[in-house]
Amino acid sequence: MTPEESRDFTARLEQAAILLLELEIYRKPDDLARRFGLPKPVVRYWWRHTDEKTRPVDQSQLSPREVKVIRKATQTLEGWEKIKRYRPPCGAKLPGGKRCKRSVAIRPPEAWGMGALATRCRLHGGLSKRLIKKLNNDDEVM
Ligand SMILES: [Zn+2]
Repeated sequence: MTPEESRDFTARLEQAAILLLELEIYRKPDDLARRFGLPKPVVRYWWRHTDEKTRPVDQSQLSPREVKVIRKATQTLEGWEKIKRYRPPCGAKLPGGKRCKRSVAIRPPEAWGMGALATRCRLHGGLSKRLIKKLNNDDEVM
């Protein structure tokens, strides 16, 4: 996953979370975080940066369109568990020409603005505060 893909994916999670909170499918950011295995501080942060206004839907009388947008947002958020579990390999070059197979790091909540997934594992700088500038600079043995 490139840094752009990680950011895009994270932005889609954010949109989906905000939608479900606006519609009051989940009443509190923490409820939503728990349901989808997202870090609570992240979901709280997302929600705090909206106007926090809800426009609840009547869940017993959803229109087909509402059903569709809710289902889509739910699926997007469910994707997180899978992404989390099957993260791409770090890929840093190791001495001897092999590539690091460890999963890329999940960033701490305060760094999700850069994307939830780092481009490298913990040992290879996945949690560094700066983005690794050139992802394909693989000549450098780490
Ligand atoms: Zn690594």
